[in-house]
Amino acid sequence: MTDGRPAFLSLTANEAGEAARTAGYAPMHAMRLRRTLLAGGDPMADETVPERLRQAFDARFAWLGTSIVTHSPSSDGSCKILLQLNDGRSVEAVHLPGASAPPHLDTAMRPARAAAGSACISSQVGCAMACRFCASGLDKVARNLTVSEILEQVVHLRRRGSVERIVFMGSGEPTQNLQAVAAALDILRDEAGIGPRHVIVSTVGPASAIDRLTATGRKFTLALSLHSARAETRAALIPTQTKATPVSLLEAADRFAAATGRPFQVEMVLLAGINDGEEESEAMATLLAGRRGHLSAIRWNRVEGMPFETTPWPVANAFVRRLRAAGVSATLRRTVGQSADGACGQLRARQLGLRLEAGAV
Ligand code: SF4
Repeated sequence: MTDGRPAFLSLTANEAGEAARTAGYAPMHAMRLRRTLLAGGDPMADETVPERLRQAFDARFAWLGTSIVTHSPSSDGSCKILLQLNDGRSVEAVHLPGASAPPHLDTAMRPARAAAGSACISSQVGCAMACRFCASGLDKVARNLTVSEILEQVVHLRRRGSVERIVFMGSGEPTQNLQAVAAALDILRDEAGIGPRHVIVSTVGPASAIDRLTATGRKFTLALSLHSARAETRAALIPTQTKATPVSLLEAADRFAAATGRPFQVEMVLLAGINDGEEESEAMATLLAGRRGHLSAIRWNRVEGMPFETTPWPVANAFVRRLRAAGVSATLRRTVGQSADGACGQLRARQLGLRLEAGAV
């Protein structure tokens, strides 16, 4: 808890430098403390910074404004943490060790950093998108996360292991908190050694939201959460996005790729009998033909009480094989964290006692 003190990372770099100057020290010492914290280290143990300044900052600021309420390790090595925020709300983040990380990443990112771990982080408390298969949208969105709350997820996870890549695929729709997400991306690049090429930002759309991501000018990888190439099926899965047609979303993704020079990923959560059949793979192959998009499919991570079934491995493999046969770059990701509240938002939902119910699609 912060005891009323502001979180250190809630200051901008300039503000932290100014605080050091006010205390009688060069601003670069404040920069060092920020870098140490963002690397997952303990600023109070950073002996490259004068002890008196460390103590002065320790009295004035909380090094972290969030704390881990619970952590949920999985047998596959991933670990989900539930963070308590300063207002008592909570948010999830997941550490993915090196062996788990590659399937989340586009092929260009995989070979060089194969051993590096990843962080799957949140941008909002809850989510307004209300995807029917996701626990994060059960109680809608409570509020946006601040820049420091986004960064602190990385700090906590770096204290658990290597984090060299970031995926914004936790709770929340990043485009609805774009200012804070963009600011966090810049700090991760400048002060945490994680450049945009090692960041994936996921969105469900609409096309105008993707265009806003493009307009930030940051060259991260875009992940478009499409879930179906068929407009009716997608609208049923994401009832808040009924006007965002797959074609309009892909056209916006094309504009992102043209403007940034970066490829994009198309994300699919495979749900048995809903979007894993031949009709779907044919529609998806038609939609992706000639585009720079890579399709990344993942089997649904079961959420108790929701009216879906996980696509069996043979069906999922066959789905991806059909796409490849049609000339689409496609992979089937391994589901991580299944042994312990693995699905997005499940740990928080359980803590809040939310009822896991959703209408059938
Ligand atoms: S899947 Fe993503 S966009 Fe959909 S409700 Fe969950 S967090 Fe929100």
